[in-house]
Parts: sequence; C-alpha cells; structure tokens
Amino acid sequence: MRAVRMTAWQGEPEILDIPVPEPGPGQALVKVAGAGVCHSDLHIMEWPEGLLQYELPFTLGHEVTGWIERTGPGVRGWGEGEAVAVYGAWGCGRCHRCVQGMENYCEQTSAIKSSGGGLGLDGGMAEYMLVPSSRFLVPLGDLDPRTAAPLTDAGLTSYHAIKRSLHRLVPGSAALVIGVGGLGHMAVELLKALSPATVIAVDTAAGKRDLAKRLGADHVLTGGQDTALQVRDLTGGRGAELVLDFVGGQQTLALAAACASSLGEVAIVGMAGDELPVGVGRLPFECSVSVLYWGSRPELMEVIALAQQRRITPQVETFPLEQAPEVYRRLREGRLTGRAVLLP
Ligand code: NAD
Ligand code: ZN
Repeated sequence: MRAVRMTAWQGEPEILDIPVPEPGPGQALVKVAGAGVCHSDLHIMEWPEGLLQYELPFTLGHEVTGWIERTGPGVRGWGEGEAVAVYGAWGCGRCHRCVQGMENYCEQTSAIKSSGGGLGLDGGMAEYMLVPSSRFLVPLGDLDPRTAAPLTDAGLTSYHAIKRSLHRLVPGSAALVIGVGGLGHMAVELLKALSPATVIAVDTAAGKRDLAKRLGADHVLTGGQDTALQVRDLTGGRGAELVLDFVGGQQTLALAAACASSLGEVAIVGMAGDELPVGVGRLPFECSVSVLYWGSRPELMEVIALAQQRRITPQVETFPLEQAPEVYRRLREGRLTGRAVLLP
C-alpha cells in the first residue's frame, strides 16, 4: 500500500510502498477514509534529530477516520465496515491518566518513545492503519469518514482547551482565537456552539479571517500593532477571559498577554515554541497560563457527538494521498483554508 513516510529528520516525507499490516490480538485494521494534515507535522519535519524520541521511519497522519477492515483475535463489539474515528494519543493504557481516558498525558510516554500513530508509530496517511488497541476506536455513526478526520485533533484539541475554561465564558465575556487555521477554525465553531462569549478571531491572512467571519466570529481582526487595543475596545477595557494561542510565536504570545483579562486564562496550543514572560506587570492579575496537548478519549466522544448534532462541522479541503508533499508545502506557505484532508 502507499504511505506518506517520514524517513529522515529535517527532510520532506516520501510516498513509499509498504506492506498492509495484519492486526494481532486486541488490534484493529482500519481502512483509512481521510487523514488530516496538521501543522504539527511541519514542526516534526523541521525539528532537529534528537528533539523527539521517535524512531524513523514511520507513516505520518495522526488525525484519522475510516472503516473497520478487520479485527484481531479477542476484539469484540466492532463490525467490519463500521465507520470509526481513531483516538490518536496512544498511551500505555494502565497508568492513572490513561485509565481516566487522558492518554494524551500518559505517564509512560518517555518509555514508549512515541506519542501515537503518525507520531513515532505508523499513522493514517496510507491505505490502511493498524490501531494497536480497539480502545482507540470511537464510532462515527452517520458522519462521513472522508471529512470527519479533523474532529480527532483539530476538533479535540480545541474542545479540550475550551471546555476547561467554560466557567470563565459567562454571558458578557469574550474569547480570543489567535490563528484561524486547522485548529483555530474549529475553536471558533466550538466557542459559538458551547458558550455565550463574544468571539474575537485574529489572523494575519485574509482568507482565514473570511472563514472566521463565516463560522460566526463576532469580530475579526488583522493582527497588527493595534490589535490589543482593538480587543480592549471590544471588551469594555477588560480583555478576553480566554485567549487561545494557536501559533505560540513571540508575536502571538505577546498579543495573548496584552489581551487577557484579570482572572482570565491564556491557553497555549500552538507549538512555535517561543516564550511568554510571566510576572507582575507582564500578565494581568490572577491570569492563568496553560500549555495544552490534545484531549482525552471521552472528550473525543463529546466532539463527535457535537458533530453528529451538526453543531460543529470541520471545514475541509480534500486531496489525493499522492499530493501530500504539495499539500504540506501549501500548509507551510499558508495557502490552505480550514483543514486539508488526504484521501488514500
Ligand atoms: P495552521 O497552519 O492550519 O494554522 C495556523 C494559523 O495561524 C494560520 O491560519 C495562520 O495564518 C495563523 N497565523 C500565523 N501567524 C500568525 C500571527 N502572527 N498572528 C495571527 N495569526 C497567525 O496550523 P494548525 O494545524 O491549526 O496548528 C496550529 C498550531 O497548533 C501548530 O503549532 C500546531 O503544531 C499546534 N498543535 C498543537 C496541538 C496541541 O495539542 N497542543 C495539537 C495540534 C496542533
Ligand atoms: Zn495534530
């Protein structure tokens, strides 16, 4: 089968032919319908050898939906052809966090040396994907597996970041979304679906701002010198109770700090890796800062339920698997809107 493989650090992925894996005990083979193209893959391609504990080569694609092809011995309750989402953060399954469903914060990841399929282990940018335990499967119901993949990372990560701050998003509050890409556009939809907060979206690209507007953002800003002042104006001087930074660069972190309200939260999701100065005078009083990674298995079920109720819908542009290198180039250059999904 064809697969999009990471074969060298600081290199472009290659499309190679590899054998279709066979599911062993407890495992499932998923026929991939769609694999989302995440900006994290660009970081993985850019970071130097040694930063991640992953071993090469592996197939990319950590945002995956498809159909059960077959299951290994001992797997019960899943029918051939059933549409499923793959929960992507594969933990040890036995530590306290994993037992709570938070495999994104597994206590054993340093021993496991991978974060999941597409993240050190073979992922879903291929015709088939081996899922090492049926506990990583979530039924999609009537959702189309060809376009639902972004729910599993772009949707889940945004949902987790918003859900933990819902108590801040009371009527009259404001939420600021910085970066309306694959994750940020889902965050705008989720904020509108889950909270009465005024939603302010910032992106430097005009096409992304148009998308934010279309998805219901109340205000859309360009991201320049005056942005923080504009946010203060729009919030009666208070700032935003929740600031979601989907870039994590110096400029956006500075903007996040300048726009947060006292008692608010700055949630850093973007992995550009710059630093946010913390201290008196740097952040508003009692403003919390969190650095977030993905979401839990129960939260993926909640995201899928929202999509089944048609309260959120990933905005998807689809491409054949063979176009992966070109799609990554377009993502790097900011020439994609919403989420790109590869169809094998
Ligand atoms: P994306 O490229 O689709 O979106 C990024 C958006 O930010 C684009 O719309 C871009 O125009 C905008 N942007 C860039 N610089 C900006 C600036 N200075 N001001 C305003 N807008 C700006 O990427 P994505 O797939 O949505 O991922 C976003 C980030 O989140 C990446 O760093 C990715 O690695 C990270 N990520 C984190 C997690 C997690 O669990 N923490 C999960 C998935 C992705
Ligand atoms: Zn991702």
